Amino acid sequence: MESSVAAVSAWLRACSQEFDRRVEELNELDRILGDGDHGTNMQRGFAAAGALDFGAQATAADALRQVGMALVKVVGGASGPLFGTFLLRTGAAWPTPLTVAGIHGALDVGLHGVMTRGKAERGDKTIVDALAPVVDSLAASAAAGLPLAEALTAAALAGEAGRDATAPMLARRGRAALKADRSIGVIDPGAVSMSIIVSTGAHHLG
Ligand code: ADP
Ligand code: MG
Ligand code: MG
Repeated sequence: MESSVAAVSAWLRACSQEFDRRVEELNELDRILGDGDHGTNMQRGFAAAGALDFGAQATAADALRQVGMALVKVVGGASGPLFGTFLLRTGAAWPTPLTVAGIHGALDVGLHGVMTRGKAERGDKTIVDALAPVVDSLAASAAAGLPLAEALTAAALAGEAGRDATAPMLARRGRAALKADRSIGVIDPGAVSMSIIVSTGAHHLG
């Protein structure tokens, strides 16, 4: 197996473990903002992703695309197509070898895929609010010439800050928009999941 595929596989397995560990925390947030299934959705999607056999010829880009398709197929709801689109688009632009500028470019494509699919802007209290600061951070790190590991650490922190910044936002997309009056003060579960994916990736790709 090509080393970058091994790193991507380890990243996806670690995501699956983290969603197993945090399923109730995510369901609880979605119980307040939506229908209470977000943790279960992500757990199911990444369990399916972790069970994929990418094949001997697969590149890291192929692996990410296969996972994106699995999420669309297995998860359903709002988050399946959104996280699936994110990984499909990001995978299609995935750089070999890994560079800060290359990962920035790939995640920027992924972000725009999510925004086009879900019609959410920054500030709508969605996964966009965790992902957009990650893309910004990587752009700044690429411009500053930061080494990959440092850039990924900074990106993970930017994602966590973006996740936390969803708390005071008023939900404008998805089921949470229907409960918008209840949404103030609660972190968006999809933003938590996006931050988990980015932080886990920083750990395994850096
Ligand atoms: P469902 O709402 O179908 O039950 P989930 O509970 O798995 O799906 O996912 C809910 C999450 O999806 C929200 O917390 C939010 O982050 C994200 N989300 C919903 N609609 C959108 C959208 N239009 N754009 C971006 N993210 C969205
Ligand atoms: Mg839900
Ligand atoms: Mg649902």
